[in-house]
Amino acid sequence: MRYALVTGGSRGIGRAICLKLATMGFSVIVNYNNNEDAAADTMVTIIKAGGDASILKFDVSNREEVDLALKNWRDAHEKEYIEILVNNAGIREDNLMLWMEPESWHKVIGVSLHGMFYVTRALIKDMLVKRSGRVINIVSLSGIKGLPGQTNYSAAKGGVIAATKALAQEVARKGVTVNAVAPGFIQSDMTKGLDEDMLKKQIPMDRFGKPEEVADLVGFLASSGSSYITGEVISINGGLYT
Ligand code: NAP
Repeated sequence: MRYALVTGGSRGIGRAICLKLATMGFSVIVNYNNNEDAAADTMVTIIKAGGDASILKFDVSNREEVDLALKNWRDAHEKEYIEILVNNAGIREDNLMLWMEPESWHKVIGVSLHGMFYVTRALIKDMLVKRSGRVINIVSLSGIKGLPGQTNYSAAKGGVIAATKALAQEVARKGVTVNAVAPGFIQSDMTKGLDEDMLKKQIPMDRFGKPEEVADLVGFLASSGSSYITGEVISINGGLYT
């Protein structure tokens, strides 16, 4: 069995990535933080379609929880390892910096940036030993361009982009690639409150993207077809910004 872990796999883009990786033959570990019903639904959808999946609860921003959950997984799968890691979990708490509470700053950076570090650190050694692995970080247009009202989110995603480039160089010789995918506006719970009709006017393709479109790109990065790509940030934004 080849295993893939998707953080925040219960909903939105993460869920679509789980379904995609399952169709590619991976046994998918669907991580979630609060929404067990949604995670279980993702798992059941995969199993009903003939794939293999399990759910694993941990808060990516809590180092002890991450380490314990992944140690327990490893203890139960002594001869196996997680070959594909998709660091997808993310939140946003937008505000102008003038009004931003320190809690919002730390929370958003805690999930995207610290979460990526905790989960990747726990899994990278096995990938290096096996000389095969993929780390795919879901970042954002916000982390490339910077968006007003999102200094915390832009800083978090910008930090993940820089870490992607640095880690890619650390592990390239051992057959492990590290890349980032930077979506623009994608339909999900995260963008539900936004005025889509107004915002899509800025997008050359005149629409928000779909989670499945991001999942297809992640699927490519997880496949053997992407073996010589590392340290890259690939935008998927309908032409909004490159
Ligand atoms: P979403 O629909 O709000 O889903 C967020 C997912 O992250 C959920 O599965 C949630 O789990 C999980 N999560 C949140 N905090 C977590 C934590 N501390 N530990 C573990 N899991 C956690 O968001 P989305 O739109 O699919 O976004 C997915 C990723 O794409 C994020 O990194 C986001 O920043 C990025 N992104 C999204 C867009 C967009 O337009 N939607 C654009 C650019 C980048 P629970 O179900 O348990 O809450």
